[in-house]
Amino acid sequence: MGSLGTVSEATEVLQRVFGYDAFRGNQQDIIEHVVGGGDALVLMPTGGGKSLCYQIPALVRPGTGVVISPLIALMQDQVDALRTVGVRAGFLNSTQDSYARREVEEAFLDGELDLLYLAPERLRVEATMRLLDRGKVSLFAIDEAHCVAQWGHDFRPDYLELSALHERWPDVPRIALTATATDATREEIAHRLNLTEARHFVASFDRPNIQYRIVPKNEPKRQLLKLLQTEHAGDAGIVYCLSRASVEKIADFLVENGIEALPYHAGLDSRTRAANQARFLREDGLVMVATIAFGMGIDKPDVRFVAHLDLPKSVEGYYQETGRAGRDGLPSTAWLAYGLADVVQQRQLIDKSEGDDAHRRRLNIHLDAMLALCETVECRRGQLLAYFGQSQEENCGNCDSCLTPPEAWDGTIAAQKLLSTVFRLRKERGQKFGAGQVIDILLGKTTDKVRQHRHDQLTVFGKGSELRDTEWRGVVRQLLAQGLLGVEGDFGTLVLTEGSNQVLFEQRQVRLRREPERTRAPKAAKSSAKAKAAIELTAEAEPIFERLRSWRGETARELGLPAYVIFHDATLKQIATELPSSLEALGTISGVGENKLAKYGDQILAVLAEVV
Ligand code: ADP
Ligand code: ZN
Repeated sequence: MGSLGTVSEATEVLQRVFGYDAFRGNQQDIIEHVVGGGDALVLMPTGGGKSLCYQIPALVRPGTGVVISPLIALMQDQVDALRTVGVRAGFLNSTQDSYARREVEEAFLDGELDLLYLAPERLRVEATMRLLDRGKVSLFAIDEAHCVAQWGHDFRPDYLELSALHERWPDVPRIALTATATDATREEIAHRLNLTEARHFVASFDRPNIQYRIVPKNEPKRQLLKLLQTEHAGDAGIVYCLSRASVEKIADFLVENGIEALPYHAGLDSRTRAANQARFLREDGLVMVATIAFGMGIDKPDVRFVAHLDLPKSVEGYYQETGRAGRDGLPSTAWLAYGLADVVQQRQLIDKSEGDDAHRRRLNIHLDAMLALCETVECRRGQLLAYFGQSQEENCGNCDSCLTPPEAWDGTIAAQKLLSTVFRLRKERGQKFGAGQVIDILLGKTTDKVRQHRHDQLTVFGKGSELRDTEWRGVVRQLLAQGLLGVEGDFGTLVLTEGSNQVLFEQRQVRLRREPERTRAPKAAKSSAKAKAAIELTAEAEPIFERLRSWRGETARELGLPAYVIFHDATLKQIATELPSSLEALGTISGVGENKLAKYGDQILAVLAEVV
């Protein structure tokens, strides 16, 4: 190293413009392939570093890189972030007035743009196509490429039009990127985008700095509050809920308990939504309580936790949502509280969903995979990676299964007791009851409802006293999750399935997960052997970091930019630890590129001079 000739142009851009030392994972291969004019299909987890894979080729190749992205609301921020590192970027979408649009178009035609962001629907407009014909396009990047796939969960019809890019500009390389990556989705993307010749780059889907935890849901609000107060005080994070009503309720609850939280869901008017999103991005330490309408493309790097209070509908969805935590590589938590009611509710939603049987079957396959993840006694990460067709060599040491291993137990007899209770109620008496009544019968509780229906006369009455109420709920939940029990109708009536019959009459074994007595809150940093070495601040560095953070906050407010666009936490931590005393030394810190050094270098040194 050393002499400029041995450093590739791409590496030079990485270091000079973005201020990073080295490429991550397969970034370099991807970038070299696209710089050389090849098509690429890139599968990389959220936070893996997809943006550089098209931004650097766009800077190296002559012409403008055109980025197709469905995330109109975020284009301004993306463009602002690029401009702070000195990249000439612009966007065209429906939020602009014609004057602003004309300006961007002219910059493009004059060859003064490195990157141009476009909403997919703009490509339907012939005028946009002609504009692109008249300028020089260096590459097409298709972000969130899974939007073209119907198998996935964010299908957008406008994306189907993107197959035309290849016909109109056969010589311009195309790079499609997504974080959603089962084989089925990947094949569909390649096929629909006409990317048959593209090289596929599949990154490891592991996000070692994220700690995965799935806990039984008892008192969700309390559990959430405890998580935030004990492990994530003052941290930015996202709490996902299924419904608008629960979003509002949880946001209010957190605010009442002294946590700065904002709601986000499709029922809010667009101005409030945009304002809440902007605050979440710009301010430090806010909690966003949201439906899954929130988050696609949010590239805030310092989201420290993602909490789910309701069961996601698919592992893809779960992985994408949790992937929004810890993009900066620092330790982060993905926490999901999950209970019997979730399973019942999701099954009901699928039964009632519109669409044909094939559609419902697909939804059930997605849900079953999600339930299997929740109920596994194995390493969660191992199971997640296996879902994406990847494997890990040993257990991760950074998920709840690894940290507090649950026991597996032979639940065959318990299952048989429960199923035969359902059998007596349904088959013998034609009655419809949910889990609560079935469990009361097993526990031998003489409630009014039990007496009224004479359920104390059943032979199974009181035959389940070896398990507590919550344990029985766990049994029901797991039988539902494994398809060994079914649920029907609006009141969650339990019914027998094919699988139930095997357990009842064919001695099919049932393995169940026993929750560890108490899930101790695991220490993130020490447990995550494989997590990137997080910078632990010393007692001396801590106040310096805080001082740098408040400088960053003021600067961001003055410029109207999100704080992380100025510098990431990781960068400020490194500065607070290494205390560079010259611009040259400051320039060697990861995340400090040429442009930011010129813009903020003196101010940083002044802050350090004050406090050191
Ligand atoms: P994705 O789009 O895949 O979710 P991003 O492109 O937003 O991920 O990158 C995630 C974060 O990682 C960003 O903050 C980015 O600046 C940072 N990053 C990407 N590549 C590198 C690298 N080679 N070195 C250091 N940081 C990087
Ligand atoms: Zn694990």
